[in-house]
Order: sequence, then structure tokens, then C-alpha cells
Amino acid sequence: MFGFGVKRRTSVGGFSSVSRAANVDRLFRETFDIVVIGGGITGAAIARDAVLRGLTVALIEKGDYASGTSSRSSKLVHGGLRYLKGRHVRLVRESLRERGILLKIAPYLVEPTSFLLPVYKGSPDGRLKLRLGLTAYDMLAGFGEIARHSVLSREQMMEAEPLLRSEGLTGGFRYYDCLVNDARLTLMTVRSAGDEGAVVANYVEATGLVREDGRVCGVSIRDRVSEETGSVRGRVVVNAAGPWVDHVRDLGGVAPILRPTKGIHLVVPRTRLGVQSIVVIPRVDRMLFAVPNGDYAYIGTTDTDFSGDPAGVTIDPSDADYVLGASNALFPSAKLVAADVSGGWAGVRPLVAREGTPAPSDVSRDYEIDVAPEGMYTIAGGKLTTCRAMAQTLIDRVIAQEGRRLGWQAGHCRTDQVPLHGGDVEKFERYAQAAASAVETGWGLPDETARRLLRAYGTEHVKLLGYAHQDPKLLRPLFDGCSILQAEAVYAVEEEMAVTLSDFMGRRTELMLFGDDHGLPGAKKAAELMGSLLGWDGRERRRQVEAYKESVAEMITVARGGQAGLHQALPRVPYSG
Ligand code: FAD
Repeated sequence: MFGFGVKRRTSVGGFSSVSRAANVDRLFRETFDIVVIGGGITGAAIARDAVLRGLTVALIEKGDYASGTSSRSSKLVHGGLRYLKGRHVRLVRESLRERGILLKIAPYLVEPTSFLLPVYKGSPDGRLKLRLGLTAYDMLAGFGEIARHSVLSREQMMEAEPLLRSEGLTGGFRYYDCLVNDARLTLMTVRSAGDEGAVVANYVEATGLVREDGRVCGVSIRDRVSEETGSVRGRVVVNAAGPWVDHVRDLGGVAPILRPTKGIHLVVPRTRLGVQSIVVIPRVDRMLFAVPNGDYAYIGTTDTDFSGDPAGVTIDPSDADYVLGASNALFPSAKLVAADVSGGWAGVRPLVAREGTPAPSDVSRDYEIDVAPEGMYTIAGGKLTTCRAMAQTLIDRVIAQEGRRLGWQAGHCRTDQVPLHGGDVEKFERYAQAAASAVETGWGLPDETARRLLRAYGTEHVKLLGYAHQDPKLLRPLFDGCSILQAEAVYAVEEEMAVTLSDFMGRRTELMLFGDDHGLPGAKKAAELMGSLLGWDGRERRRQVEAYKESVAEMITVARGGQAGLHQALPRVPYSG
């Protein structure tokens, strides 16, 4: 038990810690059309799709939303240029179509951005081949949605990115894809499902499957906050547990399906790697990216076989060496060494095993749906980018196979039309410009903060600032020099179901990875603000801060190629008290 003493107030907020407790009560009492196991992007998208079709839906997540792979991606919404090389045209076309849909339904979270792709003498993919590939990429995207690629001379490349190795550089390309805050995309997808009536709860673990007449008809659950146990009943159970899908299948004695692979990223200060835009680091076996994010840049990713418990995934010294080596080969003057690394993360791709044993980076990124004899649906594979399409395919299939038997009157998929929470804006750039200047003048906040609020919360920034209207002190930064406002810690509890300090520092905001000193100077204040709402006494507040400090220290150690006790690059789901 966490011992947080979460107060059960009588009024139930939309997506708060209070509504979490009320939702858990409903899980124990009600029967749902669909129960989804897993609050990563896949489970979130499935819950949203199903509830928008009029089905009753429950979603349970054993940790925080996006605490698995969905906060450990490269944070790109992209077609996947490299997949064209493997002639996976269908996958690229689908990804580019989904990129367009995400830009429409979540315009504040998905940001078009330019990528620089350098070309060197003797590189395996010559200029002509790359030009053809990029033209095909633009065509598959349907032109016009975001800018088309352009050709850059050697001089233009060096001007754009002075740190590039000049020796052997023959020129390059600028092309466009999108960046996304993966954890917030997941959170907003769950929240949108909640808006439509899905009953969702983080920190609720599936511990077993309930069967009746030879069919899976529910899930045994444990609320990790109250330690209550019981079951949630569902006419259909969907296993969307990402790299843990085999673990959940094992609960029902069903054979595994995964061929998981690991990928890591390292974070360095921009003062050490001052890239101006995203730069592709071409390697013989794959493409890495150096991605600027505020005062930091992250570099990744790798693709190696993984076995064991995904909760224990870590950055091995060889992973860190590979990434630093690749970066130094392209940016030799930066001379990055382990001591420059300020943090990093490791994640496990829940890829599906197929015939043969291809190299890890050749394992298909396509998704697969499996229906076990006792009726549980498992979905695995895919990408953050294709989550909506995956969910649509799965729910179409569930309705086709189970709808008549269960007497469902389900509607058509609407997820490509209905905006995500905070995203109901036609022309985001124009809206953001006007809204940011209103925030700047109306609230006296710096332009940088106003723009960040717009990107993180979309139209919801108005509600967030409403908290500061009630208590103007909340307009202050969390700590000196930080652009995160105190109001955001309150909002995270009241409106975004944050249950622990790490939820706020690591996923509601990006303080842990990209904040000054990992946001540590503001940890105490955040614990105080969150604790006053969550009923934490002084001891619990100190414990939350200590746990966060430990996660940060551990992250730094492993990212620099050292060994650490817990082998966890991002905070483990909160420890039991
Ligand atoms: P997860 O996010 O892991 O979600 C599964 C959830 O299930 C977890 O939160 C877990 O806690 C929960 N769970 C497990 N067991 C239980 C249980 N018993 N009870 C309740 N809950 C449970 N894709 C892109 O489109 N763009 C990229 O740039 C990109 N980069 C990537 C880089 C790396 C290094 C990796 C590893 C992946 C990348 N991907 C990218 C792929 C993408 O991140 C994944 O496909 C996606 O996040 C998988 O989401 P998921 O919901 O299936 O899994």
C-alpha cells in the first residue's frame, strides 16, 4: 500500500485523483463491454475508439499512464523513412496517413519539424537514391500537408549545422516529419476516452483472468493505491500490455507471441551538442537522430534483442558507447564523453515474432491481433504513430466477431474526426499565436512559457490558468529559472490523475529529462503542492522527494554507462510504502 491517504472527497472531478478512486469503485461493481489491460498508447487508443462507438469501456494500467514503452520512444510521429529502404511501402503509407490524422486531431501535441539528412562520399545510400526515396515519401504523404523535402549543398548543410563533420560531406537534404510528447499524447488519449465515458484508472494491475463457461469474462485486479482486490467483468477482454503482453497471456496459459527489442536514448546539454534542428545520423545498419529539446538534445536510438522483465530494461555500457560513438562520428568536434551525458532512457518494443530470425532492426514494425481460444484479444507491435489505426482494426474485428453474439449496436469508427482533449482547434498555428500573446499580456507570463503551455495543454491552458486565477501564487515558476508553473503541479493532480511526484516530474512534464538539474530544485515545492491535494503528510512528501531523487541519480548513472542497483532508466512505478 502506498500510504498516500488519498482523500475521498464527495465531488468527483473529470480526470483527477478523486475520479480515479470513484472509477476504481465502478470497476469493482460494473460489467463492461470491453476491458482493456494496459494504459500505454495502444490501450489508450483502443479505449477511445470503443467508447466513441458507444460501447462501455474500462481501462486499467498497473503503473502510471505511459510509464511503459509509450514514454520511452524517440518521440517522432513519422512515416519511417528507413522502412522505404526495406520496401515496407504499406507501413510507410499507413504511418504517413496517420501522421496527417494526428496533426488534425492533436495539433498542439504533434509538431511538424525539419530533419537534416547529411550525405557523405561513399555512403551506402547515394544522393540519387535518397532523392528518389524522399520524393516517394512526400508523395505517400499526399503533398501539401507539411512541407516537401529540399536539396541542400555542402555549404548550406554546414551553415545549417556547423558541428557536422565536413570531411567527405557532399551535401544533403531537409525533409519534414513530426515531433510529439509521447507521454502527453498517451495521457490525452486516455483522457479523451474518459471524456466519452470510459472508466479508466492508473495504478490498477491485472493479476489474473476470470473465466466462465470456457471464456474469459473478466480480470482479477489489485488497486495499488488502496491495496483493494477484486475483479472487473468484461464481455470482451483486450490485452494491450505492450512488452508485457506475454506476461498477461501467461496468466491464462496462452503461448507467447513477442520478439521484443530494446532501444535507448542519451540526453546531453545543448552547450555540448548544439544541434539547431533534428539531424539524422546515418549508420550502415540504421538511422539515429540527434534531437534538440530546449536546453538539451537527445540522441538515439538502438535496436537490440531483449529478454527478461521489461521493467528491468536499462542502458548497458555498450548501448551508451554505441550512441556516443555514432554521434562523435558525425559531430567530431563535440567530442562527447560519458561525463557529458545528463540522462537517458531505455524502452522495449513489443514486436511480434515472425518466421525466421531477422536482425533486431529488421523485425517487422507491423502490428498483429491474436484471439486466444478462450476469447481474449491480444494486440502487439506497431508504433506510436499508428496507434489509432491499430485500435480501429482491433475494434472492427471485435465487433465483427463478437458484436452479434453480444447484441451490440456499435457505431462506426470516429477517431479520425474527433479531436483529442485540448485539440479542438482548426488552425493551430494561428490560434497558438493569438492565445500565446493573450497569455503574455493577460497573465504577464514570458512568451516562451506561454508558447510551451499552448504546446503542452492546447485549449486546456485556459483551465490550467484558471487555477492561478483562484490563487495568483500558482503563476510563479516551480523554481527560479524554470518555465514550469506551480499551477501545473496542481493541475496534474486535479485534472490529469497524477498520483506520485514522479508522475508529474517524468510524464505530466518533461522536467526529469529536460529540466534544469532534472527539476530537483522544484521537487520539494511540487511535493508540497501535490501533497496538499493528495493528503500527503510531511513524511510522505519527503519520501516522494527521496524516491524521485533516487530515480534521477539512477538514471544518470546508467546513462553514463555505469551499473545501478535498480536497473531502471525512468522511475519504476511507485514503490510500496
Ligand atoms: P506500452 O506503452 O508499454 O504500454 C503497455 C502498458 O501496459 C504499460 O504501461 C504497462 O504498465 C501496462 N501493463 C502491463 N502489464 C499490466 C497488467 N498486468 N495490468 C495492467 N497494466 C499492465 N514509435 C513511433 O511511432 N515513433 C517513434 O519515434 C518511436 N520510437 C521508439 C523508440 C524506442 C526506443 C522504442 C522502444 C519504441 C519506439 N516506438 C516509436 C514504438 C512505440 O513507442 C511503441 O510501439 C508503443 O509505445 C507501444 O505502446 P504500447 O501501449 O503497446 O506499450
